[in-house]
Amino acid sequence: MKYDLIIIGAGPAGVSSALYATSRGLKTLVLEKDENPGGTLKKVSNITHFTGFNTGEAGTVFSKTLNSQLEQCGAKVLQGKVTAASLKGEEKEIICNGEKFTSKTVIIAAGTSQNIPDFEILEELKNKHLLNDARKYYKNYENVIVIGGSDGAAKEALFFSQNNKHVDLIIREEKLAAVPEFSQPILNAKNISIHYNSVISKVNGNENIEEVLLENTTTKEKETLKFNNCGIFYYIGSSPNTEIFKEVELNKGYILVDEKMKTNIEGVYAVGDIRVKEVRQISTAVSDGAIAAIDAAKYINAKK
Ligand SMILES: Cc1cc2nc3c(=O)[nH]c(=O)nc-3n(C[C@H](O)[C@H](O)[C@H](O)COP(=O)(O)OP(=O)(O)OC[C@H]3O[C@@H](n4cnc5c(N)ncnc54)[C@H](O)[C@@H]3O)c2cc1C
Repeated sequence: MKYDLIIIGAGPAGVSSALYATSRGLKTLVLEKDENPGGTLKKVSNITHFTGFNTGEAGTVFSKTLNSQLEQCGAKVLQGKVTAASLKGEEKEIICNGEKFTSKTVIIAAGTSQNIPDFEILEELKNKHLLNDARKYYKNYENVIVIGGSDGAAKEALFFSQNNKHVDLIIREEKLAAVPEFSQPILNAKNISIHYNSVISKVNGNENIEEVLLENTTTKEKETLKFNNCGIFYYIGSSPNTEIFKEVELNKGYILVDEKMKTNIEGVYAVGDIRVKEVRQISTAVSDGAIAAIDAAKYINAKK
């Protein structure tokens, strides 16, 4: 079947696109590689700064809300990873689960993937105790090390400080980059130790993490932290999932769009964190999705 619109990714940007597209009568297919929609936010301990959604609600709750909106809107949703896209022609071709899907328009909403920290650690320890899903694992540990000083990492450090015995926050910079809403309570917390200008050079242990070796990036001094029961949570930034989109114009890996979310290819849009933008938040992702889907509907109607 040929679709009016194929949306790649069911994070907030993709789901918003689907809501606006189906409301305008577009035959819409959503392709999502994960079992559930929600994207990055599925793993976040609590959602903040999204108007109309309760602050502090778990990321999994946000994901469920997106799922029911998607189910109700009438878009066809398939689970599968898009592995190739041919976007230049009038008929767009998308390969997913080895199958070819075609459409008149495409919205790329594939977001970003988190960067994984690089230090010496046994593969088994890494698989078991290196985390990027705070709420799923926090009950397993007495101590948590959080790597990263941005809003995302700082928010999770606070979450762990409320649920675990002690948190060591490792940041490369000389001060916290997070907004005051997160940085102030971190500075006041009795059970968070901040290690400024620091990186992890090695993690030792067999079944459990026993030692974490830190190196000060300015003085080169070394420090060893010892643990009985510790997990390491990381949020050290992310990279755009653009490797399969060979034809769209990129800037530093992110997709370039105009104010209608149009890429350099007619009928192809990019929305949310995957596009060049200043502010990467739910509010801007859903706004992008609305703008792109409304323009896609106009584009299709003009061609009739
Ligand atoms: C730790 C952390 C905490 C955050 N907390 C907040 C917050 O509280 N409030 C807020 O407003 N923002 C927050 N953000 C930012 C927010 O997560 C993003 O701005 C938002 O998720 C962007 O939505 P998106 O739909 O563009 O991308 P994503 O959420 O990344 O969704 C992209 C989707 O595309 C899918 N996908 C990727 N590649 C493919 C493929 N090849 N085939 C099929 N599917 C694919 C992915 O599985 C994913 O579901 C946080 C970010 C982080 C990292």
